[in-house]
Amino acid sequence: MSLVKADTIVLGAGIVGISAALHLQARGRDVVVLDRGAVAGETSYGNSGVVQSEAVFPYVFPRRPQDIVKAALNRDPRAHIRYSALPAIAPWVWRYFLQSGPKARHASALALRPLSARSVAEHEAFAGPAGSGALLRKSGWIKAFRTERGRETALAEVEELKPFGVKSTTLDRAELAALEPHLSDLVAGGVHFTDPSTTPDPAALVKSYADLFIARGGRLLTGDARALEQTAAGWSLAAGEATLQASEAVIALGPWSSDVFRGLGYRFPLGVKRGYHMHFGGTGNATLSRPVLDLEFGYLLAPMTRGIRLTTGAEFARRDDPPSSAHFDRLEPIARNFFPLAERRDAELWLGRRPCLPDMLPVIGAAPRHKGLWFDFGHQHLGLTFGPVTGLLLAQLMTGEATFTDPEPYRAERFG
Ligand SMILES: Cc1cc2nc3c(=O)[nH]c(=O)nc-3n(C[C@H](O)[C@H](O)[C@H](O)COP(=O)(O)OP(=O)(O)OC[C@H]3O[C@@H](n4cnc5c(N)ncnc54)[C@H](O)[C@@H]3O)c2cc1C
Repeated sequence: MSLVKADTIVLGAGIVGISAALHLQARGRDVVVLDRGAVAGETSYGNSGVVQSEAVFPYVFPRRPQDIVKAALNRDPRAHIRYSALPAIAPWVWRYFLQSGPKARHASALALRPLSARSVAEHEAFAGPAGSGALLRKSGWIKAFRTERGRETALAEVEELKPFGVKSTTLDRAELAALEPHLSDLVAGGVHFTDPSTTPDPAALVKSYADLFIARGGRLLTGDARALEQTAAGWSLAAGEATLQASEAVIALGPWSSDVFRGLGYRFPLGVKRGYHMHFGGTGNATLSRPVLDLEFGYLLAPMTRGIRLTTGAEFARRDDPPSSAHFDRLEPIARNFFPLAERRDAELWLGRRPCLPDMLPVIGAAPRHKGLWFDFGHQHLGLTFGPVTGLLLAQLMTGEATFTDPEPYRAERFG
């Protein structure tokens, strides 16, 4: 058994863990990242690839009775409920519902804005030295609508975002067709968010950041984070033939963070909103230049290295339920009359799990009852966006540096 000593063990090699590791390393910490699988092998692998610098308001649970009924009957295509999971997930859904009122939504927006506003700059600060700047495209993304009601929703959002400094361009049908000529005639217009970056390969982007971490002297180990133990000197973990020892540990396990924090006596209400993807070819020469959301139906088409990636909205299910094609199967024909998708390119649907707290804010900061333990999880629909910027905040907190924003809204103590 060899002994591996470090200052900090970061648990999880998704975008969140790798980003925290890079920021800690830049502040002089000797960091080991531990994962049971490959870098960006889970949620950070299959997302839609949008660094959503325009993101301000969290997705909320419907509040009007008619919308609740529609969602409950699985008639709202933007989400899908797996009924067999309801008894298990109902307490979390109820807390999410309670946090979805106008006041709580606004409070979450005020806390999310400092993160999203800095998100592109923090990605660029990694991608430059990592040599992966070409994986960050600068053509923004589009929310396209089909109906007058969709147009009103999109324009209301534009107005709501203006006070937060979010820039966008409203497009009529012809203007949208000039940018994305292969969208169908059913599409009436859109809103182009011009500042966000997008990536054609989220996993390759995170891997390039991990390579940078290693090139700068960081270490990556394979092991099971559930073996984490507190010792007199800090934290220790048996990983294969090695025993890892450090004075600090960071839980950055995304949807699996609960597998470790529960064992330490914490009961954060971490739920998941699952989502699927599949790649398609384009019929003839049909392609997209940037990700496009079909607003009324809540799925997104993103041009990726492997083809056009269709990603779904939220499936409400238990984290470990087997995959189901129910939501995807409803959306695929709808997507086919929005854009001329050709053949499916993957043998199976990819399943991911968005790690969500009911207020849609991540938990970032010190563990209240354990010295040297830190949290960085719960990045909801926006982990690709928030990974680098929350890594910065965490590293500033851990090293006692002045923080770029008030860390109060993200503290673990908000859950008692
Ligand atoms: C369909 C979909 C579309 C999305 N689109 C976007 C988007 O466009 N923009 C955006 O910003 N966000 C998007 N997201 C959200 C984003 O992907 C996630 O918030 C983000 O990837 C979470 O990153 P993470 O590092 O916290 O978790 P993960 O990437 O899941 O990393 C957690 C790591 O922990 C490891 N792990 C788990 N258990 C253990 C264990 N016991 N021992 C050791 N290691 C363990 C896993 O192997 C994994 O590598 C989307 C998500 C989905 C599902």
